[in-house]
Amino acid sequence: MSEVLVLIDHVDGAVRKPTYELLTIAKRLGEPSAVFIGPAARAGGADGVTEKVKQYGAEKVYVVDDAQIKGYLVAPKAEVLQQIAAQALGNGGLAAILIPSSAEGKEIGARLAIKIESGLITDAVDVTADGVATQSVFAGNFTLTGKVTKGTPIITVKPNSAAPEESAGAGAVVEFAATISDAAKKAQIVASQPRQATGRPELTEAAIVVSGGRGTGGNFEPVEALADALGAAVGASRAAVDSGWMPHSFQVGQTGKTVSPQLYVANGISGAIQHRAGMQTSKTIVAVNKDEEAPIFELVDFGVVGDLHTVLPAATEQIVKRK
Ligand code: FAD
Repeated sequence: MSEVLVLIDHVDGAVRKPTYELLTIAKRLGEPSAVFIGPAARAGGADGVTEKVKQYGAEKVYVVDDAQIKGYLVAPKAEVLQQIAAQALGNGGLAAILIPSSAEGKEIGARLAIKIESGLITDAVDVTADGVATQSVFAGNFTLTGKVTKGTPIITVKPNSAAPEESAGAGAVVEFAATISDAAKKAQIVASQPRQATGRPELTEAAIVVSGGRGTGGNFEPVEALADALGAAVGASRAAVDSGWMPHSFQVGQTGKTVSPQLYVANGISGAIQHRAGMQTSKTIVAVNKDEEAPIFELVDFGVVGDLHTVLPAATEQIVKRK
């Protein structure tokens, strides 16, 4: 069976959840090979990384454990992937290359596509066994399915596009000696500011997102309490952000972040098209709104007509009780 390369999403060796989702999708397409581009400074080093990814079916783990790579922007990673792709092609075929759909991942994908003269699909929310990728485009107004027809398909996949499924892979480590050109080392990172720790998952990666809109009246406490009871990230509509109730980094929608969680709970949000654009690919959508005519109810799986200041504390209490 041909290999499917999966670029591991990690922070200094701590593997992030989108990696397991990509490995799960990779199993549909061929034999998953995880690619680690270092440094593996945390969570048990490269061995720790291998242990994690083999639990999700990685048959092979290409390891480039290089402390220098952290100091550069994306170009070296694209070069490393190009070299690993060439080796995999020679070994017995390469069915696809899957990359997390972050800003960095999309740039790596684009650079790689040029280098290996392959087609690229970005921001996929699903990929079938025959390589057909689904995208949500034009502010969510269209669902597009497409397939790469030239070269090895390169697909960047959005977080939460698949539920990670555990399966034992061999996890055979291939220490890969990559060469990085001087040209790729030209852009270096001079400073980076880590995200402030909130104890909540990152909005775009969270399996559950609980959002609040203008209907909160600026009181996000019930929204945050429900989010914490569910282990969810907190999101907001633009009206809530423009009112100064939440920072822009919380905004979901066309001019904010796109989320695709297993569960999205919209509270006091009317469901304007620009908000939908950022959340309508969520697997299950629940809304709480006091107006039964609110457009958000057109796309929900479950709707509660009521005042969020009453409904949310009651729901939170029940959830906490059942834990
Ligand atoms: P509203 O539309 O005012 O809705 C508030 C809702 O709360 C109402 O349905 C009301 O019935 C309900 N409500 C009130 N009180 C309660 C209560 N106590 N309990 C329960 N329900 C209650 N919007 C985004 O969200 N994200 C974007 O990225 C975005 N980008 C945009 C880009 C452009 C170019 C433009 C023009 C607009 C954009 N917008 C975006 C704005 C968008 O059009 C809407 O104005 C916005 O989403 C409305 O936010 P809202 O639903 O919180 O507020």
